[in-house]
Amino acid sequence: MADWFSVRMRATEEDILGDGGRHISGCERLVTEDRVHAVLEQMWRRAKSHEHGNAHAINIRIDAIDSASIRRIPPLAIESLAYATVKEGRAASCALLERHGISKTAAQRALAAIATLPRSMRGAMVVDAISGERLDGLGERGVRLSRMDCENEENFTKFLQNAMLRLAIGGDTPRAMAKFREALVLASKAAAAPGYAGELCWSDDPNYSTGYVACGKTYHRISPMKEPGNPIGGRVLFVRPGAPLAEIIDYWQRQPVLVADEFCGPS
Ligand code: AMP
Repeated sequence: MADWFSVRMRATEEDILGDGGRHISGCERLVTEDRVHAVLEQMWRRAKSHEHGNAHAINIRIDAIDSASIRRIPPLAIESLAYATVKEGRAASCALLERHGISKTAAQRALAAIATLPRSMRGAMVVDAISGERLDGLGERGVRLSRMDCENEENFTKFLQNAMLRLAIGGDTPRAMAKFREALVLASKAAAAPGYAGELCWSDDPNYSTGYVACGKTYHRISPMKEPGNPIGGRVLFVRPGAPLAEIIDYWQRQPVLVADEFCGPS
């Protein structure tokens, strides 16, 4: 059986404020040994050429993963919704979340929490799906999902391209395609946690105003979720009241997960 490795990258700006330095970009992969080198090169390029600034420190961590510990999951189904304005995109996100058991209060608080962030976080806020209270207590760090990927890069790329054709999503750049790929893997892993209720996200990439809502086993790509040029994005993961929070966070941060190849046929 192939050996798998978790490869993580975190790039930060110079630490002027004494808080570890502003987060510029990060990346989480889980790949076989023969792909580690190529992934390291991609991460290096991404860290060096990020629109958020010059990386002062780039941390890369590689951990060997016991292949018996890897959980295989299906990807979320993909849908796409386009609106004329950010206001409409965000209103549609709220409505979708409400249709899947997240209260109006929680959906609106989550939207406001992302929209008023003074700067992007490293991870996601974990929020109660009914009260809208933030539960993780991890401040600007949030909960960072890691140790996840697709099982077969080539087939997963075809799966995404088919979905884009079916939904008539065109014109995406390779960078935007990579973001879509990473977001779908992340959202699929997030959704496989016990007590998970949904997710709301838009990117901090100033050139990428598409966001998504994940709920009801579907990844709803929504555009626009922010004004072009805005460098602040964020993620909220909703959990049901009384969900086993420590167990869920441990799964999100540590459980190795692959989106299984067997589910990535024509979408
Ligand atoms: P991105 O789509 O990569 O621009 O990320 C948008 C926001 O999602 C970031 O500002 C973070 O708050 C959050 N985020 C990015 N990567 C992760 C991750 N691996 N786990 C949890 N949250 C993340």
